[in-house]
Order: sequence, then structure tokens, then C-alpha cells
Amino acid sequence: MKAKVKKIQIDFDKCTGCRHCETACALSHTETDTVNPRLSRIKVNVDVAGGNFFPVIAGPYTDAKCTSRNYAIIKGEKYDLCRLCRAACPVKPYFFEPGTEVPLKCDLCGEPPDPSCVKWCTSGALSFIEVEEHVADEPKA
Ligand code: SF4
Ligand code: SF4
Repeated sequence: MKAKVKKIQIDFDKCTGCRHCETACALSHTETDTVNPRLSRIKVNVDVAGGNFFPVIAGPYTDAKCTSRNYAIIKGEKYDLCRLCRAACPVKPYFFEPGTEVPLKCDLCGEPPDPSCVKWCTSGALSFIEVEEHVADEPKA
């Protein structure tokens, strides 16, 4: 079955590495007025030497250590796919709540969803879009 779903689209070419998205996400997940970047569900991977910045949005947790040796080419530079993976996993130092170490996952914050990261990304690297996707059929009663 196909259905319309909303998701965040990332355009690596437009990312400037400003990390405003991380600040916005951390602020929208705290009750204090202190920004702790470790609360952010979006992480901007920075490769200053290669001039590349690639934001990654936290997806589901996995306790499996990845054995993939795949890589991606971004603007001519070769990167381990681990840097683009959305999972919170045992080998990553981020996407875990400080103090409790509970895995973090993007919740498309806002009610209705109105992602803070997208609002604070002034370069246009993040967009909140609607797409049509295959979804699992409802179980028959
Ligand atoms: S706010 Fe936008 S441009 Fe800045 S780091 Fe995040 S995704 Fe990149
Ligand atoms: S949509 Fe909200 S929860 Fe998800 S990464 Fe953006 S700011 Fe964080």
C-alpha cells in the first residue's frame, strides 16, 4: 500500500557546517536554558580538509556492530558509510542521551511535526517534504 509520508530531505551540497540544526534540536529536547549538543538527534559530520559537511538524523537503535566495508563518494572524497549511518549503535559516541545513555531517535519534533532543525537551517540544506512511499498493510481483523 502507498501512503503520503513527511520526511526531512538533506542536500549535502548546501550544508555549510554551521551546526545550527544541532543547537536547535538540542534546545527542543531540553527543559533547561543550557544547550547540550549531545541531546541533538541530528549530527553534522565535518570534514574540513575535504570541504564536506554531511548531517545525519538519528534513526533506530541497533546493538549490532556493523561489519560493512562500503563507502560513499561525496564531492570526490571517499567516506566510510559508517559516517552516514543513521543508527545509534555501540561503536558511535553520539545519539545517546547524556547521563542515561538511552539511544536517541528523531521524533520529528513539533505538534503537528514542525522540525526545529529545518527551521534553523538557513542554507536550505534541510527541507521538510512530503513523499509517497510503500507502507506495511494494516493487519486484517
Ligand atoms: S543548519 Fe543546515 S547548513 Fe547548518 S550544519 Fe545543519 S544542515 Fe548544515
Ligand atoms: S526533526 Fe526535530 S527531533 Fe528530528 S533531528 Fe530535527 S530537530 Fe531533532
